[in-house]
Amino acid sequence: MGQVKCLYCGRRIPDDVAVCPHCGAVSHFQKKGYRAGARRRYILLFTILVLLCTFFAFWLPRVIPS
Ligand SMILES: [Zn+2]
Repeated sequence: MGQVKCLYCGRRIPDDVAVCPHCGAVSHFQKKGYRAGARRRYILLFTILVLLCTFFAFWLPRVIPS
């Protein structure tokens, strides 16, 4: 268990609490596994979106006759 700095009030709080005990703000330092999983899913979605855009940008102009 470590200590992190609250993003809102700047005081040190335990990294496993859901909300800051000083100002009541939601902590962004909970459960590293959850954060890593959410981040990986976000990157995967972003990659798929970029691939789709690239696909349409390069493939569609050849299909539609101008
Ligand atoms: Zn705080």
